[in-house]
Amino acid sequence: MHKRLFKWSCTGLLLLTAALAYAAPKNSEINGFRVWTDPEKTRAVFDLSANTSYKLFELENPARVVLDLQSTVLKTSLELDPKTAGILKTVRYGKPENGKMRVVLDLSAAVEPRSFLLAPIGDYGHRLVVDLYPQKRGITAEHLKIVKRMRPDAERNVVIAVDAGHGGEDPGALGASKSREKDITLQIAREVKKSIDARPGMEAVLIRDGDYYIPLRQRFAKARTARADMFVSIHADAFRKSSVSGSSVFVLSRRGASSEAARWLANSENQADLIGGVTLEDKDNVLASVLLDLSQNAAMEASDHAANQVFESLRKLGKTHKNQVEHAAFVVLKSPDVPSMLVETGYISNPREEKKLKNRKHQQKLARAIADGVEQHFKQQPLPGTWIAANRTISRHIIARGDTLGGIAQRYNISLSTLRQVNRLKSDRIFIGKELVIPAS
Ligand SMILES: [Zn+2]
Repeated sequence: MHKRLFKWSCTGLLLLTAALAYAAPKNSEINGFRVWTDPEKTRAVFDLSANTSYKLFELENPARVVLDLQSTVLKTSLELDPKTAGILKTVRYGKPENGKMRVVLDLSAAVEPRSFLLAPIGDYGHRLVVDLYPQKRGITAEHLKIVKRMRPDAERNVVIAVDAGHGGEDPGALGASKSREKDITLQIAREVKKSIDARPGMEAVLIRDGDYYIPLRQRFAKARTARADMFVSIHADAFRKSSVSGSSVFVLSRRGASSEAARWLANSENQADLIGGVTLEDKDNVLASVLLDLSQNAAMEASDHAANQVFESLRKLGKTHKNQVEHAAFVVLKSPDVPSMLVETGYISNPREEKKLKNRKHQQKLARAIADGVEQHFKQQPLPGTWIAANRTISRHIIARGDTLGGIAQRYNISLSTLRQVNRLKSDRIFIGKELVIPAS
């Protein structure tokens, strides 16, 4: 859909930004052009025969991004496939000056562009990459939801980020009958979302809702953007012994893996990020790791508690791989401020388990068990300001050795007189093993 004729007049148009100049080259050809879109951005890649210098700027009314490339000629079509074009409407080019080529990306809405040159690697040569991020200016339904969540007087929902492991170029583990982990994790993740959304005071967001790859660190960045209170990553991995089966729940370990399988899985999961390619965001890794240590303790405690609830819930469903929550250094769990866990729903390398993992009914059972565990966690440790905290139904306390009525009242943040009244206690004498009703504070 490119147009050969390009009008070189931009009078009355706003010049927003001008960016980037690199070492002046001799001559370069654009010999390839591809575009794809993921939920965050549209990416256009120009394959170049040699390094070039370029300028990028934005124009308004209508919205477009302009690239001026030095000493460059076009040797390919700039045609767009509507299926992958995303925010791009058309791509045009023209020659305003000798040797300098202009490429115009016509857009359906204003964007925040990011561009960079990539050096040759593997089969790829020099590339100019233009990432088009939608501008935050427009208010979308998603934004309204976030604003609603931020209202301090509202009893907000707790938000669970559900992450379907792998995706796109990273298929994850392969089953004996060729099922791919990335497909199974997405199916289960969607069921988990359904189950969570159906519960009062809870809602889920899917980190990945299609077959594409998201780098591991970006997965929890997305969770943070969605203001998630918890991050649950769904997997169905392989182990080198096909006899191994059962589900597992992992939380982050700082001291190393708690079992050989845990170490093995963490290694293969973390490898996946190599497929993600260039991630500019990773530059601030040093800073990130410092922040991580400072804020991770609280999140890790909540992770532990929640993971135990999910584990107990999965245990009711069937065989678990180990007798407890396991620890491993998964990158995807290294979120400093969002309690996180990784659920291995089963081993795809076990033929019997692979069959179950593909079964819709079994997927729904797994999803319900995961959602049950997460809900239990938030009911037992409700976050202030949430609907669950405000509407927590009465819970029960079984009196243990050393308990005092005053101590119990304090622990549940209720007054001693309320506790007495609700339990119709005439004195403060209590007996070990007796059950007390605890009203919501
Ligand atoms: Zn996996």
